[in-house]
Amino acid sequence: MSHRPTPAASMVAAPSHRRSLRQWFDTAEPTLGPDGPGADRIDWLRAAPFVALHLACLGVIWVGVSTTALAVAAALYALRMFALTGFYHRYFSHRTFRTSRAVQFAFAVIGAACVQRGPLWWAAHHRNHHRNADTLLDPHSPGVHGFLWSHMGWFLTPRAFRTELERVPDLAAYPELRWLDRYDIAVPVLLAVALYALGVLLQHVAPELHTSGGQLLVWGFFVSTVLLFHATVTINSLAHRFGSRRFTTRDDSRNNPWLALLTFGEGWHNNHHYFPGSARQGFRWWEIDLTWYGLKLMALLGLVHDLKPVPAWVLAKAER
Ligand SMILES: [Zn+2]
Ligand SMILES: [Zn+2]
Repeated sequence: MSHRPTPAASMVAAPSHRRSLRQWFDTAEPTLGPDGPGADRIDWLRAAPFVALHLACLGVIWVGVSTTALAVAAALYALRMFALTGFYHRYFSHRTFRTSRAVQFAFAVIGAACVQRGPLWWAAHHRNHHRNADTLLDPHSPGVHGFLWSHMGWFLTPRAFRTELERVPDLAAYPELRWLDRYDIAVPVLLAVALYALGVLLQHVAPELHTSGGQLLVWGFFVSTVLLFHATVTINSLAHRFGSRRFTTRDDSRNNPWLALLTFGEGWHNNHHYFPGSARQGFRWWEIDLTWYGLKLMALLGLVHDLKPVPAWVLAKAER
């Protein structure tokens, strides 16, 4: 007979360190709840994998570097950034185009490999951000909470750990997405193991590439993932502070071309806050939006369809 407490009981009785550890592997473990004591303080044990991800980058000291390792790191940055911006953001959070269930799942898996939690968690917090941008209810406003908190503090708290399913009923209807969201450690671990195995294989069959298991693990997984993470969250921190404002929005969002390059188009953030319903975020032809080009290519290949455009009335409102 199991002695495992019921969810309701464990919410009260389980020591917090055990609960935090279990949440590494199963995010459905009950949290303190958004209004419990300490809900807005960083849970360092729960956050340990995030800290470890950064420390593991120091592995470059021991594994060295090769062109192969850098190419793998860059390719994984690009592929995963596209999955985040095109799918986690423009598809799952804002529903700005349509696709098949298979393509939806494939990009949910690639998105999960970004180590930014599951698609439901990501979309739920993001919808909350748009609804309450730069108010006290915004989970990550630099104006309200400060730069560091908006960049990488808010999501390490018990308040933010839970996936607010009530914000994403459209996505929660898919059991495969709920599974990815609940066991959000699975895909990152598989990617790390696969990269290590690939490096070991290449070391034996193609020694002229001068790579190894450790090298592909450190560069392809740890370094690439940490860069990907910090680039992504500049949109929460820097793109609500630095840049120009084309539209008068209630929030403090900015258009920033440097951030747009780094994040494949997300830096046109004032455009996006004014009209989040478009699959395109660079509203002018010169506003480079790599994700939009990628989505157009996918549409040509028949993988996605009904990309929502920027309406003429939105462009007519532009102040510059
Ligand atoms: Zn924003
Ligand atoms: Zn958005």
